[in-house]
Parts: sequence; structure tokens; C-alpha cells
Amino acid sequence: MARFCLPLFGDRSWPAIAVAGGLAALAGCSGFDYRERPAWRTHAEEACLAQNLVHESAYIQPFREITGPGICGLHHPFKVRGLADGTVVLNATETLDCSMIPALDSWVTGVLQPAASARFGEPVTEIKTMGSYNCRGINNQSGANLSEHAFGNAIDIGGFVLRSGREISVMRGWKGGDEQEQAFLREAQAGACGLFTTVLAPGSNVFHYNHIHMDLAMHGSTSRGLRRICKPAPEQALPEPPAHDTLPEPPPVDEDLDIAQGGRPAPQPQEYNGPGASAYLATATPSVTVDPGADRLSESDRDQLSALAGAASGVGR
Ligand SMILES: [Zn+2]
Repeated sequence: MARFCLPLFGDRSWPAIAVAGGLAALAGCSGFDYRERPAWRTHAEEACLAQNLVHESAYIQPFREITGPGICGLHHPFKVRGLADGTVVLNATETLDCSMIPALDSWVTGVLQPAASARFGEPVTEIKTMGSYNCRGINNQSGANLSEHAFGNAIDIGGFVLRSGREISVMRGWKGGDEQEQAFLREAQAGACGLFTTVLAPGSNVFHYNHIHMDLAMHGSTSRGLRRICKPAPEQALPEPPAHDTLPEPPPVDEDLDIAQGGRPAPQPQEYNGPGASAYLATATPSVTVDPGADRLSESDRDQLSALAGAASGVGR
């Protein structure tokens, strides 16, 4: 049976280690022996399934139950390759619980796409993920409490790709991106804070310098609803999106249509005198119906020609 103690801290947190060490000693560490998966996890999965909140598709497929090691795992995992009806793909197939999928769909359609359209004039078409289900401690620290990742109830987001192929990276863009990139990433985080119960972006701690962590952990309730953790606190004043003209996009040029209107070049006859030439000509020569009498002169034409010939002979040379 796996045992998980108080979280350890990174190399830069020696004072915190001393505090944690003291608390661990008080708790005796063995007090953090999770023998059973908290009941709320199963309830959340089953409620989501009962409400039919996830629909199987080319992008979302149910997967077999994951049991352990320890209390890691989930009863009804899904393999997810795309969100919002496949309008946004993931760069990797992620394993998620039922509850995470509609929350992510809402994030894509209600937060990401409006922000991307306003700030870049184009939608997000791909999300760069950095992990979902993983039986591990918080922040990958051995001995730490289990992360929500250990239950498929979390995802890490490393960046976004726009329709043009432009990439917005959390690591490079959070502080180093241009004004609109920074604002877009902050809007993505702030919007996530209304949909997920834990959102940790760069600046929340040293572990989240390159991704946004989002999960649906149960932190308890307050008088205002579910308790949420959202770090760093969303910025209130973000730069305005750039002004876009309101003219509709010009229609794409239809090259096929242009060629048709210009007329196709007529096929050129090709000479061929090799074997089977007669058969070739019979099939390759354009079919033209010729009146068999068309090469004969009429009576009146013949009379006119005779008169002209007579006149010409009279003139002499
Ligand atoms: Zn994470």
C-alpha cells in the first residue's frame, strides 16, 4: 500500500523544508496513509456519466478502468485527442476523467476562442498538452500528497497553436511574449479559474514556469460555492485587443473557375504513323460529320467559275 507524506519542496525552499519537516514529524507521516479513494471522486465520475456530459467521437473514446498502483486510477477514463467537437486537437492523446472533458470544452469555446479571435484574429486549432493521468505526487515530488493527475482529474497546458500555425507558448509567452500574447495567456488562465477548482500558472510557484495546471479537485465549499485555488491572482487590467476592420474577408480565388472562364487550350493533333496508325487516327481524330456533297460545286457556281475563267483568258498575261 502506497504511503504519501507531506509535500517536499524544491531546492530553493530550504526554510519551507524545515517547516514541512516539523509538521511531518508532528503528523508522524504514517497518518497520511490513504487506504481508500475519496468517495467524491467516484460520485463525480458517475454524476458526469449519468448526465451524459461526454459523447464518444473520433476524438473521445472510453478506456478501460485504471486501478492502481495504490489508490491511483479512475473507473471510467477517456482517451481524448480533441476538444469542442474536434475543432481543437491535442498534440498528444490524454487520459482524463469524465468531469474534465466538458470543463475543457467550455474553456475552449467560452474562453480560448473568443480571446484568440479578439487578440489574433484567428482561432486556436491545437492545444499543446504536457500531461494528464499520471500516478504521482504533487509537482512530481516523491513523498508528496497525490496529485489530481493521479486520478485523471487534471491537465497541464504548455501552449496553443493558431490556425496560421503561429504558436503561443506558456513558457516563452507568459513574460516574454508580445503584449497580445501575454494578455491572451492571462485571459486563458483567468477564464479557467471560473471553470476549474485549481488553476496554477507561471508565477504560482517554481514548478509552473512552463505550463498552466488545471484540475477539478474538491477543496470544499464556501458560502459562495466551491472553494477555488487560482494562482497567480488574475490581473484586472489587460491591454485592449487590437482593432480589426469589420470588412468581410474576400472570397478565396477559385483557380479552376478562372481557367474555365479563360478557355482551355485546344488539344493539338499529333502525327503518328507507327503500327496501328489507322486505329489511332480513328480514335484520336476529332469526330466531325462532313456532308458528302459539300465538296461538289452547284450548277450556278460552276457557271460563274466558267465565266470568270473565260474573262481571265481574254485578258491574257
Ligand atoms: Zn499539473
